[in-house]
Amino acid sequence: MAHPTPLVISNINTALNDSNWDALVIVGQSFDSGLTDELLEEIAKLAEVDKRIGKSEVSFVSDSVKQGRVVLAPTGPLNRYFDDVRRYFDAAKSAAKSLLEMGSVKPLLVVLGNEDVKYQNATVVSYLGFCQTFWQPLEAREALGDSIEPVGLMGLVGENVDAAEASAIANGQYVARDLCGTEPERMAPPRFAEYCVEEFKGTNVEVSVIDDMAKLESEFPLLWSVARASIEVERHQPRVIRLEYTPKGNIEKTLMLVGKGIVYDTGGADLKVGGHMAGMSRDKGGAAAVAGFMKAVSELAPIGVKVVAEIAAVRNSIGAEAFVADEIITGHSGIRVRIGNTDAEGRLVMADLLSKLREEALDEVNPTLFTVATLTGHAARAVGPYTALVENGAAKAANVGSKMVEMGDLIADPCEVSLSRREDYDFVAPKTKADDLLSSNNGASAVTARGHQFPLAFLAIVSGLDKHDIDSEQPLPYVHVDIAGSGIDGGDWQHGKPSAAPVSALIKTFIG
Ligand SMILES: [Zn+2]
Repeated sequence: MAHPTPLVISNINTALNDSNWDALVIVGQSFDSGLTDELLEEIAKLAEVDKRIGKSEVSFVSDSVKQGRVVLAPTGPLNRYFDDVRRYFDAAKSAAKSLLEMGSVKPLLVVLGNEDVKYQNATVVSYLGFCQTFWQPLEAREALGDSIEPVGLMGLVGENVDAAEASAIANGQYVARDLCGTEPERMAPPRFAEYCVEEFKGTNVEVSVIDDMAKLESEFPLLWSVARASIEVERHQPRVIRLEYTPKGNIEKTLMLVGKGIVYDTGGADLKVGGHMAGMSRDKGGAAAVAGFMKAVSELAPIGVKVVAEIAAVRNSIGAEAFVADEIITGHSGIRVRIGNTDAEGRLVMADLLSKLREEALDEVNPTLFTVATLTGHAARAVGPYTALVENGAAKAANVGSKMVEMGDLIADPCEVSLSRREDYDFVAPKTKADDLLSSNNGASAVTARGHQFPLAFLAIVSGLDKHDIDSEQPLPYVHVDIAGSGIDGGDWQHGKPSAAPVSALIKTFIG
């Protein structure tokens, strides 16, 4: 059924008197103002006998509102420097569970705001929290039917709520969750491509898919090296998927994204052992987020912004044809890459796509490039559940990362900037004349110093973007976005719901 459509009602009295809504959810720090007198009195009376009110979630049957049942979802403290709008998101996520359990299908949401500017999107963020809980995996819907997502419409009470933006972000996140959260056969590369073709059919986003193996082998040699062991199984063969949105009228800026779509990561010849393979169907989260971002862009149809997204959908299999560490492979840019570890495959599948976009970018208006990937365990260790941003010099000079941090914080999709340093470039430097660049060390990133920062150096060199930094005549801003820590809600890669990071941060920063 997809995410619930948001319907904005500006007047709270009108909303509370509408019996079409079958439950009322109130999210806020406390429940002693901002509601009708009758309801406030009822809550105050209840609070005399139930000390949970304002502290933990409470639901009750009410005579003072037409919805009949009420859920009070407290956010907890909002006034400390480290509190942010995720307090609303988390309260909403949990209230959504209660709504499902009580059988509500048309809930009405009232968000009691806070004057602090950091809570300016509290209503939209709460709505997105509900959507996160309501989403069910694609395989579950296909097996059990759409009725497992029973909430089709949600009322949002408020005067300045942008329903179009809320809906576009929710729709984008829904697509990102579907693509990320599917098992390896259901979302093997050809089926990933089919999903995209179907999703963007008849929209303002053009989709093209490269499924010619000879073309993939010659034009994307690094991607091909990862894909090699998957070629003999037709249903596992790789795809390069391009999604393109061109606005009507003048173009003022161009966003160019590459998404890592490893539909399953066995680790390859450097096989994941000791139980570390489970959950690796989510290694396509970057590609999923990029496609989800395009879905939101498609709905918002922004003027002045062109967006190009390229997805490397590849299965990192193991077999007789598998690539191994020590191999030297010349990428699209002409750089000879020494393979350090076949489990560091995400940077390889994105390298040739990024190199091609670097060529295209030179002819585009005001371009910014991105790679979005569940790239390193190190990112998750270093910044926990945040999206890690690593910028090249041109992106840093343009404050691209800091803008994403600022806007991500306002929409419950938080990011942190990590700096790119000279040691990162030293780390990937060649050791002999036989190659130009090392893909990685042969150890887990999580125990490698600067394990999530040095891949930016690799990606910049392998794509030729290092020739387009602030010391060049044509600098190209480039941000590497590592969602290994933020991509799955709660960090349980096998069972957790995909968070759809950084779809809303990207929309808020570059589109909204
Ligand atoms: Zn890997």
